[in-house]
Amino acid sequence: MQKNNRKKIILVANWKCNPATLREAERLFRATVNVIPKNKNTEVVICPPYVFLSRYKIPARPAGGQDTRYKLGSQDVFWEETGAYTGEIGPRMLKSAGVSHVIIGHSERRELFGETNETVQKKTAAALKAGLSVIICVGERTREGDASVYISFIKEEVASALRDVPKSALSRVIIAYEPIWAVGSDEPDTPHSALEMAIYIRKTAADAYGRSLAQQLPVLYGGSVSASNAGAFLRDGGVDGLLVGRASLHPKEFGKIVKITQDINK
Ligand code: PEP
Repeated sequence: MQKNNRKKIILVANWKCNPATLREAERLFRATVNVIPKNKNTEVVICPPYVFLSRYKIPARPAGGQDTRYKLGSQDVFWEETGAYTGEIGPRMLKSAGVSHVIIGHSERRELFGETNETVQKKTAAALKAGLSVIICVGERTREGDASVYISFIKEEVASALRDVPKSALSRVIIAYEPIWAVGSDEPDTPHSALEMAIYIRKTAADAYGRSLAQQLPVLYGGSVSASNAGAFLRDGGVDGLLVGRASLHPKEFGKIVKITQDINK
């Protein structure tokens, strides 16, 4: 990323369906918070499984000494507030549990649980209406074939997710570019191609909202991020932050990523 004093670098820790017990979650959470120094230039969003969320609630007005080094995110959300939807979690429930951010349309949800651009659109609109910030995941399944094919695939994912988003809510939207082949694979994309995709994503947003608002839209990179590649993505990948999956389950490794982030954005 070009050094950019306007935006904070955003680091999202997606724990996925981990860890298996509350006890381990407590340990992971405490160890993670310990590696996040207080720094106004980095925003760390910790996204544990639903069941652990309310334990890490940050009070609306933190009293002296209470931890505000992180924000709390959920890994999904439902588009209705309440009702006969067994197993679902509505946006206002999350908000009242202290959640500020929600991941929407993660590739594992799209691939394994049938999420579509339409469900992503509905979830995005509902979460924004409840006052949450959204981290919308987009990314192509493969790079095989003509580049124009996967580029238009991403453009459609972005355009449809933003279709019901009013200009006034755009400041609460973050797009995470996560090529599906790079997620969980140990085959990260290159910073150069992440940069190209970040440009296409902002161009798509500019078509809807104009250039200056689109330039403010944070675009993250995700897909096998580790301490060994985080710096390259942030320096040369044109992105405003990283969505970190497996590496966020290892506080030492995650701490190194936080440190790299802070050194870049000093
Ligand atoms: C993710 O969870 O979105 C992710 C990118 O996972 P990983 O970093 O493990 O590839």
